[in-house]
Amino acid sequence: MVMCPKCMKEISVMINFKSGEKRFIFDGYEYHEEDFVTNGKTDDFECPECQETLFTCEKDAKNFLGNKNKNRG
Ligand SMILES: [Zn+2]
Repeated sequence: MVMCPKCMKEISVMINFKSGEKRFIFDGYEYHEEDFVTNGKTDDFECPECQETLFTCEKDAKNFLGNKNKNRG
């Protein structure tokens, strides 16, 4: 576990918000889901406890969360 610098609670995960397009193929009857395509504008990593944005890139979030795993090799 690592401590959130905003609310001081221990967290082990973050909520990631990505902006982009979610596409569906519509055939007149049904929607067929396509992959989500990010546009890179928003890539926020928020604390699940206080919903504050802690990081805006995966590398920083990974480094932060990675601290909890440093003794696991
Ligand atoms: Zn927090």
